[in-house]
Amino acid sequence: MITLRSYVGGRWIAGDGERARLVNPATEEAIAEAGTGGVDMEAALEHARAGGVALREMTYLQRGELLRAMARLIHARRDELIEPAIANGGNTRSDAKFDIDGASGTLAYYAELGAGLGDVRVLADGDGAQLGRSARLWGQHVLVPRHGVAVQVNAFNFPGWGFAEKAACALLAGMPVIAKPATATALLAYRMVEAIVEARILPEGALGFLAGGAGDLLRRLGGQDVLAFTGSSETGAHLRALREIAGRSVRVNVEADSLNAAVLAPDVAPGSPTFDLFVADVAKEMTQKAGQKCTAFRRLLVPSPLVGAVESALVERLGAVKVGDPAREEVTMGPLATAQQLRDVRAGLARLRAEVTSVFGGDGAVEPIGLPSGRGYFVGPVLLRCNNPDAATAVHQLEVFGPVATIVPFDGETRSAVDLVRRVGGMLQTSIYGDDRDRLAALALGIAPFVGRLVIGSEKIAGQATAPGAVLPQLVHGGPGRAGGGEELGGLRGLSLYLQRTALQGDKPLVESIARQNRG
Ligand code: NAP
Repeated sequence: MITLRSYVGGRWIAGDGERARLVNPATEEAIAEAGTGGVDMEAALEHARAGGVALREMTYLQRGELLRAMARLIHARRDELIEPAIANGGNTRSDAKFDIDGASGTLAYYAELGAGLGDVRVLADGDGAQLGRSARLWGQHVLVPRHGVAVQVNAFNFPGWGFAEKAACALLAGMPVIAKPATATALLAYRMVEAIVEARILPEGALGFLAGGAGDLLRRLGGQDVLAFTGSSETGAHLRALREIAGRSVRVNVEADSLNAAVLAPDVAPGSPTFDLFVADVAKEMTQKAGQKCTAFRRLLVPSPLVGAVESALVERLGAVKVGDPAREEVTMGPLATAQQLRDVRAGLARLRAEVTSVFGGDGAVEPIGLPSGRGYFVGPVLLRCNNPDAATAVHQLEVFGPVATIVPFDGETRSAVDLVRRVGGMLQTSIYGDDRDRLAALALGIAPFVGRLVIGSEKIAGQATAPGAVLPQLVHGGPGRAGGGEELGGLRGLSLYLQRTALQGDKPLVESIARQNRG
């Protein structure tokens, strides 16, 4: 069994005292341990903040080159990184590649953005503005890197991509990072950071890593620091409200949980390309990473006359899913990531039961391929139907974080769909499927204020659509209300969390020269 170490103060440290065990969720074997007991969090922060100096001296072009080197390294190590994702995350090979390629792809994308910004250290934000009677008195907003450290706390389900997408934005903006993966599945992120440190890609202090709990780190953050959190809304709300975080106006971004919806429009005929796209997307979102994706669908809004056709198409797809040891090639869905996840999913199914009937999968009990009965944290795909969605509450409130989705029949009216979708109070992603442009526009604009990303599936893009749950670096990831109220990625927008927008006001030539002078 290996001991994961933290990388702080420029060295690797194994925490003392009690350590958490990292387990293979298919076999339940302990494979590693991790803890941050005895790690000096103040020293870790000071070292990282000092590392910011070297990053800020670099231009966007140069920082983009750092990201490119990280992307290439992760891509080159792809095969060896797949192993920890299978062993510690319960990922199938395909799930593991999704996480690892998401990491290298996002780093490569931000490397390109750095190249596009070029040899500059200061970004102008918008156009300048004349402030007085003549053009002499001038105002211009500029964006400059904050002088603190970006503490990036991630959820258990995407240890690779979660680490890389956050780090890409902060490092390109010029802020050093301390990354903290969820302890239970930290092995993949650990291997990535180990490789990056070993390859000496980044300046000293630019990247730290915590293997285990955050201790009192967050209570030590100050006004130049940033906390970027992904996880449950409960933890997000707790961290945001910490006295030190709120009191010192630490900049916080929260990416939390979400009951994403898929809406099928009434004009879609069974067997049409749009219908097939809907069915394929739902089956993928339910089973990829065993449904443990913050962007996966939880509610499927289907016009009542189409419910029968949707159910039979999905039952056929879900019936072909092979659940078992993700290390075996024939397996298409692995276990949940932890014993706690299994308990939570079972409890969630029990709570939903009063409001739903089972269409497929019953209570999720399954005999895993390649393992003795009862071993591992397995749940089979479960498709439910809620026959009285207006009276239901749990269906609209409870995120069962596993391969579980509920069909919510509706009368086909746009207004009814919008009312049902918005009942969850904020989502990361919602998809609408149809071919009637006016109806799609009305649905899109009705739902848009309640969601961070709206995917429109239609016949026109059926052949080239990416799965709705795949988070794209070009587009914003985050959502209002329940989803945390945060925003990540979205091209250059993703850098703004780590940049201070400052308004310069004064003599026009001087203001313009300050905004320009920091060329490399
Ligand atoms: P979680 O229990 O809230 O934990 C998330 C992270 O917070 C972990 O790294 C955890 O560390 C850390 N943490 C917990 N309590 C903390 C505290 N008091 N101080 C500092 N750090 C603390 O969530 P999870 O179970 O890992 O993730 C599942 C949830 O995340 C789901 O609800 C899912 O929807 C959501 N999610 C959202 C997104 C998104 O982008 N919006 C993406 C993925 C997942 P330890 O592991 O060391 O406890």
